[in-house]
Amino acid sequence: GLQPALHALVQGVAGGGLRFAVTLDRILSSTAIAPPVRASPTHPVPAAPEPVRARLRGVTFRYGPHARPVLDDFDLTLTDGAYLAVVGPSGAGKSTLAALLSGLLQPQAGTVRLNGVPVDGDPAVLARHRVLIPQEAYVFTGTLLDNLRYLRPDADERRVTTAVDRLGLGALACRLGGLGATLEPGALSAGERQLVATVRAYLSPAPLAILDEATCHLDPTAEATVELAFADRPGGLVVVAHRISSALRARQVLILGDGRPMLGRHEDLLTRSATYRELVGHWLGEPETARPPRPLPLGG
Ligand code: ATP
Repeated sequence: GLQPALHALVQGVAGGGLRFAVTLDRILSSTAIAPPVRASPTHPVPAAPEPVRARLRGVTFRYGPHARPVLDDFDLTLTDGAYLAVVGPSGAGKSTLAALLSGLLQPQAGTVRLNGVPVDGDPAVLARHRVLIPQEAYVFTGTLLDNLRYLRPDADERRVTTAVDRLGLGALACRLGGLGATLEPGALSAGERQLVATVRAYLSPAPLAILDEATCHLDPTAEATVELAFADRPGGLVVVAHRISSALRARQVLILGDGRPMLGRHEDLLTRSATYRELVGHWLGEPETARPPRPLPLGG
């Protein structure tokens, strides 16, 4: 059945060097996300509590006065270093949550705070606290460097090059003729545009990153490279997951669209949520290799 296959998969991933050890030793029943306690073997002292990066409190959101609420009296706390994957069936509210967390939507009830500041939709304020990378990547006509530095115009070339290498944009940059090459957005594939957008976001000074299926056109390896780079961000990472691998990499998984939203580790949700089991079964039943993304040019 599904369970042994899932366990084999989880073991396989863990044995393959999951970069982030899952060290929470209890099932979190609330929606407060604490980073794992880091203790050295010789000095098992719990780390000091991390600062709260984002907090949704009693959030209710609906798209119209007569629409059913997408989120209803919803709470979520993200502390520094949080690494959360948001999953759920289509229409469950994943993108809505990403937009609320980013301050692009305002709830009808409840509050959303980033670093203690209520989000009010002012783009300049929001840009200091978080960077949202949407599924539809935006690339403008201009040099690759201008595109990459858009959220941090003062980034020097060395910093940009480091980000380009870290996120796997190097081959494309090379093929285009370097950072000074002019980009024609229409000449890039959807995956290439997404890579440009992720490097741009990576360079932004915002501590918290929110990826809303921002890597869905990348192959799984490129997607992992991007997510792991963002997971190092001090403020934390929220990923609206497109593949099971994103949920397996994350420290915590939030499932929407299953009655009350549920938060836990992947293994916990497998036992606790029928919708999560269904979703994972669906992901596993359609191997990622069976749906290849548009191939990235290999250079030359
Ligand atoms: P998907 O996986 O398909 O992207 P999702 O989980 O991200 O879905 P949302 O896009 O957040 O779901 O949508 C949640 C619900 O809100 C859905 O029922 C959707 O139809 C509805 N909805 C989303 N955007 C709007 C909008 N602009 N106006 C009205 N209803 C909307």
